[in-house]
Amino acid sequence: MARSQWGFLTEKLEQLFYPQVCSFCDSLITEDDAGPRRYVCRACESDLPFRLNDEIYPGHTPFLLAVSFYYEEPLLLALRQLKFHGRTDFAPALASYLHATYQRLKLSCDVIIPMPLHYKRERQRGYNQAGLLGEALADLVGIPLLEDALLRVKASGRQSERRGREEKLANVQGIFEVGEDGLPALYGRRALLLDDIVTSGATMTEAGLCLQEAGIDVLGMACAAGGLRPD
Ligand SMILES: [Zn+2]
Repeated sequence: MARSQWGFLTEKLEQLFYPQVCSFCDSLITEDDAGPRRYVCRACESDLPFRLNDEIYPGHTPFLLAVSFYYEEPLLLALRQLKFHGRTDFAPALASYLHATYQRLKLSCDVIIPMPLHYKRERQRGYNQAGLLGEALADLVGIPLLEDALLRVKASGRQSERRGREEKLANVQGIFEVGEDGLPALYGRRALLLDDIVTSGATMTEAGLCLQEAGIDVLGMACAAGGLRPD
């Protein structure tokens, strides 16, 4: 059998056994959507709050911060499902859009570091949603994910419940440490930090500075969602 026929057949078998189903509406993604594996149907995709020409986030941070979506429905639904309801299939779905942002902004890095959860919270939840997003994005970009490079050594209160920027910065000071085990893999490489949601950017900035202080080259940060659509 010719290679192209074989490819066609394996693709058909894959569709039969692993049909592409939309993470938002559960409808079968039809062959009209052929191409790389899709996780969101065209109709649901057209409702997503893309930042598109606004993907560089205007946060008060010394790092480049790339954000794919505004923090609005129906994307919030996806983030809640991923974070609290074990819907890990939203990780590759959102990562495919983060990858598009990565390409549009011509970002170029060698490793991805997910924002760590405090170990107690991760144990409670069973996984770190930023780690899942990072794993899927690292796969698409073709670079490694380093999960033990950065550790969260203190749990902080919810940022959204705190008011001023000064208070937010004070709240996150010293909450990260660089993981000794992850360090050798990082020297001479450019890192991208990754998280699901950004608000003030204070937590990610603290993480980026912590890595920089350890001599790590930090390209910037990428997030699935942040900010509201301008009126
Ligand atoms: Zn759909």
